[in-house]
Amino acid sequence: MSKALYRGQCLCGAIKYEADSVDQKMGHCHCTMCQKFHGAAFSSYASTLRQNFRWLSGGAELSVFEAENGTKRKFCRRCGSSLIFESAEDNGLVEFALASLDAYPSLKPDAHIYTGTKVDWIEINDDLPKHLNGRS
Ligand SMILES: [Zn+2]
Ligand SMILES: [Zn+2]
Repeated sequence: MSKALYRGQCLCGAIKYEADSVDQKMGHCHCTMCQKFHGAAFSSYASTLRQNFRWLSGGAELSVFEAENGTKRKFCRRCGSSLIFESAEDNGLVEFALASLDAYPSLKPDAHIYTGTKVDWIEINDDLPKHLNGRS
């Protein structure tokens, strides 16, 4: 058995991954692309260094959508679950959809980002820092 602390999977279970650690920076992203991709008011992403992340199964089921700005979003082609975000330039990180984890040992998002495009049908009622765009 692996000792990885964090495990996640897509809705249908075809794709499974594990991560040894999760970075402290965990944002709720209110950008319009996250809204469309998730079909939700915002997305919540966590990240880890690439060497701390492993696919356990279903890697071949990953589909990729590349946007005009070069960002890539990876999702399960069977069930559509959003799993991975990649920036246009390699930052050495794997950013994954926080809610695809099976459990959240002591994980808590630390900020709202791109609140300039927040939908007006939700209110942000927590005390986390809000960034109009990305983290500065
Ligand atoms: Zn799936
Ligand atoms: Zn976003």
